[in-house]
Amino acid sequence: MREERHRDGRKITIGVFGLTSCGGDQMALFNCEDEFFTLGRSFEIAAYDLVDVERQPAELDAALVEGAVTHEEDRDRLTRIRKTAKVLVAMGTCAAYGGVMARHPGPDPSPLKEFVQVDFTLPGCPVERHELRRVLGSLVHGDLPVVEDKSVCFECKLQENTCALKEKKALCLGPVTTGGCSALCVNYRLTCRGCRGPLVDANGESMVNLLQSKGWPREEARRSLETFARGWLKLS
Ligand code: SF4
Ligand code: SF4
Repeated sequence: MREERHRDGRKITIGVFGLTSCGGDQMALFNCEDEFFTLGRSFEIAAYDLVDVERQPAELDAALVEGAVTHEEDRDRLTRIRKTAKVLVAMGTCAAYGGVMARHPGPDPSPLKEFVQVDFTLPGCPVERHELRRVLGSLVHGDLPVVEDKSVCFECKLQENTCALKEKKALCLGPVTTGGCSALCVNYRLTCRGCRGPLVDANGESMVNLLQSKGWPREEARRSLETFARGWLKLS
């Protein structure tokens, strides 16, 4: 990443926050160690929950918020963060769609957009480092990345994988899942479980029908589709 500054010459102030979550997306930023030196010249990290959960600056250029809203405290905190940040990024699939927590009894995770305006959604469980860098790079220029509308299947073809859905009738959600991971799981002979959430305009019901035609019980197909994005089928 090149050294750059905000248009007025000062550093970009960012806050990295975690609501109910595993911390994996915040760790993804931490793992950008190769870029830390350059990042440090362009950005001031004014708050980072992984380091100090109490810090809440009065003003931020951007807030990267991980995790879903599962209780009142999350909601209040999110509202406070929104008031202080010019740009709010939903970082990771929990923040974007509620995430995998809905599978466990007790949590009732909701995505950030149900409570505040979200300026950019960065899906992933956890987020991909190269996509995180793209967001940070755009913030320096005072904008946000263009949303890429490509499926995991599209990337899977580029990797020249054999299609597990077609050839083995495996439960693979690549056709309706947002790409960006280079079909990581399929590359390792697994299948896509939809961790990056629904592709824009993806038709969940058609996906369920397709899986059913391959021999998968309808209920299992539906449950699978909603593992990371509760309400996916209602969205489509
Ligand atoms: S294996 Fe899955 S991700 Fe790859 S092309 Fe087939 S359906 Fe798409
Ligand atoms: S292949 Fe599917 S489940 Fe695996 S990382 Fe990519 S989006 Fe997530």
